[in-house]
Amino acid sequence: MIPAAFDYARPTSVEEAVRVLAEGGPGATVLAGGQSLLPMLRLRRAAPTLLVDVGRVPGMRGVRREVGRLVIGAMTTHHEVLHDPLVRRHAPLLAAATRTVGDPAVRHRGTLGGSLAHADPAADLPPAVLALDAELVAQGPHGRRTLPAGEFFAGRLRTALEPGELLVEIRVPELGADWGFHYEKFRHCAQAAAVVGVAAAVRRGSGGIVQARIGLANMGATPLRALAVEAALAGADATAAAVDRAAGAAAEGAAPPVDRGVDTEYRDHLARVLTRRAVLAAAGERGWRA
Ligand SMILES: Cc1cc2nc3c(=O)[nH]c(=O)nc-3n(C[C@H](O)[C@H](O)[C@H](O)COP(=O)(O)OP(=O)(O)OC[C@H]3O[C@@H](n4cnc5c(N)ncnc54)[C@H](O)[C@@H]3O)c2cc1C
Repeated sequence: MIPAAFDYARPTSVEEAVRVLAEGGPGATVLAGGQSLLPMLRLRRAAPTLLVDVGRVPGMRGVRREVGRLVIGAMTTHHEVLHDPLVRRHAPLLAAATRTVGDPAVRHRGTLGGSLAHADPAADLPPAVLALDAELVAQGPHGRRTLPAGEFFAGRLRTALEPGELLVEIRVPELGADWGFHYEKFRHCAQAAAVVGVAAAVRRGSGGIVQARIGLANMGATPLRALAVEAALAGADATAAAVDRAAGAAAEGAAPPVDRGVDTEYRDHLARVLTRRAVLAAAGERGWRA
């Protein structure tokens, strides 16, 4: 289908983008890589009056290292995130989740910020930023503010961004060598989004698991932290039996959707199985560190 008519602006700075967004009012929408927005325009599920294309804004793209964290521009593409040596070394969970996104064409156009701002509960990167305890930086008419990832996702395709606010960067804390990571995803076919996805960050000590942070995709209207699993894993042995017991709580507090013929019971089962696999891999030899 052909999208409804819209105006188009291509600002060259964050300040200009914010001003143009404000002037465009409620009909103004940010265009990043277009991998989610363009299909919605074509299906007329979205009909903005103005598209503000932030593809040429310098400073919104790339990865840099600050003390104790990585700062990733919102317009950094999935391909760039996946192949960035800083990400692979200091935030390997993000790279692990990113390599499961779509196909190379999607990864060359789609952006980290676009995926987070789109807030699809089935997307792979939101659970990774939850498990990494990342912070998201927004800039709007009233300046900059920082939101913890846990406060960013407000509902299905809804975020805590205020009207006129632009997501500009994602700050990912570097976790030490005692942390291991893994992303598990079950999907219908090669290109599809997750039926359920599990992002695990696990801290190992000599006595077993010290701490774990688990993000879930597609187990509710927003990506979720599996808090009951995290509590059960704190101080647990890193054995298959102990991890299996903890993973039994993966669906606690979740409200999985019923879609594409997948019922709640099956998603609960997947959450348990994938959580067990992800935690064991993150806690063990296979914990993914590039
Ligand atoms: C064939 C196909 C397969 C895919 N498979 C997967 C998959 O397996 N896993 C997965 O997670 N995703 C998948 N995706 C989605 C992909 O990851 C998209 O890249 C992503 O969802 C959106 O990023 P984008 O940069 O293209 O954003 P856009 O499509 O340009 O924008 C998406 C939304 O976010 C808003 N937005 C974008 N950037 C900002 C910003 N900086 N500040 C404020 N708002 C902003 C836009 O206004 C829009 O509402 C797939 C997409 C396609 C087309």
